[in-house]
Amino acid sequence: MNIHEYQAKALLKSYGAPVAEGVAIFSAEEAEAAAKQLPGPLYVVKSQIHAGGRGKGKFKELGPDAKGGVRLAFSIDEAKSHAKEMFGNTLVTAQTGEAGKQVNRLYIEDGADIARELYCSLLVDRSVGKVAFVVSTEGGMDIEAVAHDTPEKIHTIAIDPETGVTAENVAAISKALELSGAAAEDAKSLFPILYKAFSEKDMALLEINPLIVMKNDHLRVLDAKVSFDGNAMFRHDDVKALRDETEEDAKEIEASKWDLAYVALDGNIGCMVNGAGLAMATMDIIKLYGKEPANFCDVGGGAGKEKVAAAFKIITADPKVEGILVNIFGGIMKCDVIAEGVVAAVQEVGLKVPLVVRLEGTNVELGKKILNESGLAITAADDLDDAAKKIVAAINA
Ligand code: GDP
Ligand code: MG
Repeated sequence: MNIHEYQAKALLKSYGAPVAEGVAIFSAEEAEAAAKQLPGPLYVVKSQIHAGGRGKGKFKELGPDAKGGVRLAFSIDEAKSHAKEMFGNTLVTAQTGEAGKQVNRLYIEDGADIARELYCSLLVDRSVGKVAFVVSTEGGMDIEAVAHDTPEKIHTIAIDPETGVTAENVAAISKALELSGAAAEDAKSLFPILYKAFSEKDMALLEINPLIVMKNDHLRVLDAKVSFDGNAMFRHDDVKALRDETEEDAKEIEASKWDLAYVALDGNIGCMVNGAGLAMATMDIIKLYGKEPANFCDVGGGAGKEKVAAAFKIITADPKVEGILVNIFGGIMKCDVIAEGVVAAVQEVGLKVPLVVRLEGTNVELGKKILNESGLAITAADDLDDAAKKIVAAINA
């Protein structure tokens, strides 16, 4: 689960991290009152969307010459006019895809005088089984490009869970970031604070790009991106309350209500499968035959007819889907339950695209019988290869 920058900053501030004063607003009319609460004379007006690269992003409605989604303002009036221009418009960044994201929230922040822009993130480093800091002096820009072109400029410092962030860890991070003076002093509190927030709130990623050294030599968190581990949300009601569903894929929200493992993808073959391994194999074989899956959907083992029907409806509701492949290996999940769910869903919402079904395993004969007697235009397949070939052929027909 992701949250907005202003929410992430409020969370980090509650742990004692240095962030600027700022006010989140939900309409352009609030801009003046918000800016008046800040010291000035420099303000930053920041689009709040769940995607990075906002500074270099472009508003679809404003043309290529307009300023991006993060703007400096040198007066309250200028902050107001930026807010007016940005609200309701669609920001396209390197991370949003072509469709972009509508800006419905802005964050107006006290501007900082920047001396250096650094990169600092925390993540779970599975190769060492620890939470690690990933830091670089090359902040503020596309960190993937830095990692690709100059990997020696990226430093990873893993933290022992037994000790937490030690003085040695802080020294190593500070050295990698070339911190000295007041910034090095700030580092002694900042890095343990970030680690504490990350651990206590079950974050999956905390990315500060940039972490800045200001002209007065102190550190400040200038941007903040936080993703939480969805499996831990049951113990963080405060974090759950920060969810902004308008930023999420509607199909994924519906799927999460049914506890389905569903991920929207870019292709046009909708897949309904049981088990993550079989789902991956199904996606692979679709690609092998030259098409792309529209989604990853694992209905799991213990699903009932209603859950199967919900999954099928989510898949058919996707306008990109030109054909559906149901691939079930019945073990704990029974083939007849799948068949009943598919039939129920089709009876409710209809079926406008080709459907290929491959069933195998527990109650397979009963499942096939239910599908045959339903009168639906279903193409039966014998095995995974046959199923993939048939759905690709049906789409190409
Ligand atoms: P992103 O483009 O979505 O990553 O948004 P950021 O919050 O990282 O802001 C983009 C860039 O705007 C930063 O790298 C800075 O160069 C600039 N910026 C953001 N806040 C300030 C500020 O307070 N003062 C100054 N001078 N520049 C800022
Ligand atoms: Mg940034």
